Amino acid sequence: MPYHERPGGRACSHARYRLSCADFDELMRQAEDRCQLCRRTAAETRHGHLVIDHDFRVGDWAVRGVLCSTCNGKIERVADPACAAYLSNPWYRQMLAVRGLPMEMAEPPLDAAVRAGRRMWRRSAEGWCALDRYRGSSLTWSQIYRRFGPHNILLVDQELDGDAPAGA
Ligand SMILES: [Zn+2]
Ligand SMILES: [Zn+2]
Repeated sequence: MPYHERPGGRACSHARYRLSCADFDELMRQAEDRCQLCRRTAAETRHGHLVIDHDFRVGDWAVRGVLCSTCNGKIERVADPACAAYLSNPWYRQMLAVRGLPMEMAEPPLDAAVRAGRRMWRRSAEGWCALDRYRGSSLTWSQIYRRFGPHNILLVDQELDGDAPAGA
């Protein structure tokens, strides 16, 4: 399947939207391999491929569906019932509902640690500090949330330090 070709060992292009290969295949299956608005297949589109549409206001992970580039270019500007229906039922909300995850994810308390992708952070008074090789950099909770989404953020225990005081 061309979608999963990885020239030069790079990640699949859908990885940018935090979609696993299985997520992506499921998304395409739901869309029946067609633009979800005009129903064109990739081969029938002007540029010969479909694109992953996401809501940038929510985050990179907030995939709404699959569109051709023409529909993708006008989706936010067109007031038509098909667009409205598409926008009101985005894939990421369906996905969160199926997994029993909330749309909002409250910021974990001070000293909590989270894992997202291959990264780890711990909340300190200064913000969320990286616990991996990027040690020294820190993010806000909303930056972590926007980048990964609630389905990719895992609260992890304090086991990380190794020397955490017993009973803490
Ligand atoms: Zn893939
Ligand atoms: Zn289209």
